[in-house]
Amino acid sequence: MTHLKNIAFTTILAFVATSVSASGDTEWSYSGDTGPEHWASLSEEFATAIGNQQSPIDIELNKIAIIKPQNLIIRYEDGDFRGVYNGHAIQITPQNKEDNYVLLGGEKYTLQQFHFHTPSENQLDNHSSSLEVHFVHEDNRGRLAVIAVLFDKGKPNRPINDITRAIFTSGAHQETALPDPSEITELPPKNHEIALPAPFKITGLLPEKKDNIQFPGSLTTPPTKEGVTWIVMLNKQRLLTSDLTGFEGVMGKNNRPIQPTGARVLVKYKD
Ligand SMILES: [Zn+2]
Repeated sequence: MTHLKNIAFTTILAFVATSVSASGDTEWSYSGDTGPEHWASLSEEFATAIGNQQSPIDIELNKIAIIKPQNLIIRYEDGDFRGVYNGHAIQITPQNKEDNYVLLGGEKYTLQQFHFHTPSENQLDNHSSSLEVHFVHEDNRGRLAVIAVLFDKGKPNRPINDITRAIFTSGAHQETALPDPSEITELPPKNHEIALPAPFKITGLLPEKKDNIQFPGSLTTPPTKEGVTWIVMLNKQRLLTSDLTGFEGVMGKNNRPIQPTGARVLVKYKD
């Protein structure tokens, strides 16, 4: 662990927000000269950032098409997961990929990883949420499908709380009180494992009712590759303010700004 004793929490936030890291050889970030408005010009590989099917978007709920969505079946299993802070987001990877997959329109997409953004990237009717989880899946032809779940402040969410505790209390027993956010002086070093409890309750991150909006989009980080099927859950989850502060303390503001929806058709799936 890197000890950053006696540094005010706000200083840590500023440090995280301005740090840059690499995708391939090209550094990018969420602010300044390597921030989102410059991504397309940072490297040829990133040129798609000015494409016409980019994510995230604002979902206008009164403009949803009445056509048949793809049937969605989610098969996640609580189990062994590993977490890291990769320099852009807290990212969690299943240790047994076969346990976690979705069936989308009958096609199997396997969960590769899930990660977090604060505040949310996608919006519903211009409303930004406090946090967004992206579950990234891939089929055997290399096609991507991302399920997004939005979180607002409110009651505790067990898996979110388990992650915060794993980061800030070195995996201490869950009855241990979390540190006051203003007292946080230690952040997880980049790419070091965050020891999650096993079994980790991945299923607790999903809303019970799985109504969702489906549309074509892109990855929201460079290279912002298009051809990604997005599935944004309409029912939001809740998390504790102290857990949100923990995630924000590590990741800073890591949301790409809203991109134009353009001519895309958005459809609604009813659970
Ligand atoms: Zn993401």
